[in-house]
Amino acid sequence: MIKIAIDGPSGSGKSSVAKAVSARLGIVYVDTGALYRSIGYYVRTKDKDPKNAEEVSALLPEIELDVKYENGIQCVYLNGENLGDKIRQPEISMYASAVSAIPAVREFLLETQKSIARKNNVVMDGRDIGTVILPDADVKIFMTASNEARARRRYDELTAKGVKVRYEDVLSEMIERDENDRSRAVAPAVPAEDAIMFDNSEHSLEESIDRVIEIIKERVGEIK
Ligand code: C5P
Repeated sequence: MIKIAIDGPSGSGKSSVAKAVSARLGIVYVDTGALYRSIGYYVRTKDKDPKNAEEVSALLPEIELDVKYENGIQCVYLNGENLGDKIRQPEISMYASAVSAIPAVREFLLETQKSIARKNNVVMDGRDIGTVILPDADVKIFMTASNEARARRRYDELTAKGVKVRYEDVLSEMIERDENDRSRAVAPAVPAEDAIMFDNSEHSLEESIDRVIEIIKERVGEIK
């Protein structure tokens, strides 16, 4: 099985790149952020504090998550409901980041992620894929870009979807979320020792995709 890990902060372009790589190489794309978002979404619907480890942990036994691929698109089902775009709201990003620092939440999602990679050739994106989920990945890439470039991309993405946001809020929330993700005690969002660093502040999406495909080919050759 081929395992490609792409980690990095929000707005680094990792999910757009990972999606394109999956399409070009014909392998499965796994968006692990969607799993944390789904837990964050559930905590929000239950009106609980996402930073309260006890309250959040108590909810976990009520949650059944199922990842399915429908027409090549990853769908996360929470207790039988396809959450779709409900998990993409900026508010849910903050909930996801808060719950993701809770060890019980990470433990809860561990096997789901590992088992997908056992059964499929995957390109998986997240924060701890190269360090925790797939430490033996064939290729590990850590994508970054300047705060401004990343905030601009997030802003454009949200606005294109019709979500009304201010650029300044996107930037400050992004910086806060990165700081949460980088400084947490468990599985912090830091590069694996053997990850290839790729700063794409000055690259277009197409250029980033080409560069990542090049790195993968250098490492694993052509994927059959
Ligand atoms: O990638 P995305 O922005 O959708 O992720 C939402 C949040 O989920 C991140 O801010 C991070 O806190 C958490 N996450 C994580 N580990 C992953 C993927 C996402 O902690 N592998």
